[in-house]
Amino acid sequence: MFEKILIANRGEIAIRIMRTCENLGISTIVIYSEADKDSLHVKLADKAYFIGGPRVADSYLNMEKIFEIAQICDVDAIHPGYGLLSENAEFARKCEEKGFVFIGPSPNIISAMGDKIKARSMMKKAGVPVVPGISHPLLSVEEAIIEAEKIGYPIMLKASSGGGGIGMQVVRSRNEMHKAYESNQKRAKSFFGHSEMYLEKYLENPRHIEIQLLADQEGNTVFLWERECSIQRRHQKIVEEAPSSFIDEQTRLRMGEIAVLAAKEIGYTNAGTIEFLVDQDKNFYFLEMNTRIQVEHPVTEEITGIDIVEQQIKIAQGHTLPFTQKQINRSGHAIEVRIYAEDPKTHFPSPGTITKLSLPHDDGVRHEIGVHSKSTVTHFYDPMIAKLIVKGKNRQQAIERLVKTLDSYEIEGIKTNIPMLQKIVTHQAFLNGDTTTEFVKNYL
Ligand code: ADP
Repeated sequence: MFEKILIANRGEIAIRIMRTCENLGISTIVIYSEADKDSLHVKLADKAYFIGGPRVADSYLNMEKIFEIAQICDVDAIHPGYGLLSENAEFARKCEEKGFVFIGPSPNIISAMGDKIKARSMMKKAGVPVVPGISHPLLSVEEAIIEAEKIGYPIMLKASSGGGGIGMQVVRSRNEMHKAYESNQKRAKSFFGHSEMYLEKYLENPRHIEIQLLADQEGNTVFLWERECSIQRRHQKIVEEAPSSFIDEQTRLRMGEIAVLAAKEIGYTNAGTIEFLVDQDKNFYFLEMNTRIQVEHPVTEEITGIDIVEQQIKIAQGHTLPFTQKQINRSGHAIEVRIYAEDPKTHFPSPGTITKLSLPHDDGVRHEIGVHSKSTVTHFYDPMIAKLIVKGKNRQQAIERLVKTLDSYEIEGIKTNIPMLQKIVTHQAFLNGDTTTEFVKNYL
């Protein structure tokens, strides 16, 4: 058993990982930046080490400093959480070189799945349907026009290294192509350092449905059903639920089985998620694979009773999965909403100091929270400060609990997106399960 784990992250996910470590009797070491001196993750860890200035480059992305602390503390393993270094193949490789177990898949897989063109090709080869499009880098705007005409407009131009909803642009006609090509290329270069792009069919009003996978080092691979994450703003998820109320049992099983086959084919290990877009006829297409724990993992934990972080740690230690596919149950319905420190009208981040924080506790209510009642939310990091997860015996009960909890959620001193979440979860379309990726645009 690991004795000490360094958590190379902050906020709610650092605290979430800590909770499982505590249950497993593992000590936790965290790192913190200048801006996070008084953070909740620092207060809750067994040991916390200052790592550098508030900018992520000086702190949470500072690999050398992280390894220095890992060495001083003699940790067994490093959990990267999500974001930050979690999908950085170089970091995973260096962990191995320095003798720390990286809690995640192999560096080669991280690197392959981080390149959307490569991931598309590998998935296609593994028999997974992909969104119609090309699987090689575009060489010129002229080529983009030729390919777009073959596929048919609208198409989506995508940066191969894109993420977080950045680096993609819808192109509805040939006239728009030159401008879109140039601006997307520029954006990709400035955000990710690479300008490589490809294009695929733009699906109108699809659903975003993803399959949670777990794979041990012996090749045993299972799926923990699906999550529907269609409700998004600027291609970023805000409401996630499990199960999806859109797909039938047959589609659900097919998606799961194909995801498992693909994971086996590419030699995937640890927790991972294969994301799909699903059209109105329930055809599903591979979108991308995330090689880390997802923000929305709690909804899966709620319906399966499986602690995904625990499985990540145990798989990394070389344990065999303790269940077979048949033993993975599913009960009830869970919904998560992401709470952001942002202006509900402009959606601009709203940094500041929290003056009051009071969370309603009730049956079927779970909070994953990264702040305390006097925390200062800075502009240096992602403005997501908490997640509210509710579970009910069915979707209707889950929604009732969600609405009630959001209504009595008290947070003062900063602005949050709670008013927007309330609008979403009380909207008739949401109640009807009419949740496509265009929900916010179509209804709010
Ligand atoms: P990122 O890696 O930036 O998160 P993804 O490829 O996972 O990007 O896509 C994020 C979201 O963007 C999807 O959930 C969906 O809403 C939208 N999207 C991406 N590709 C397409 C497409 N081909 N057609 C329609 N919507 C898309």
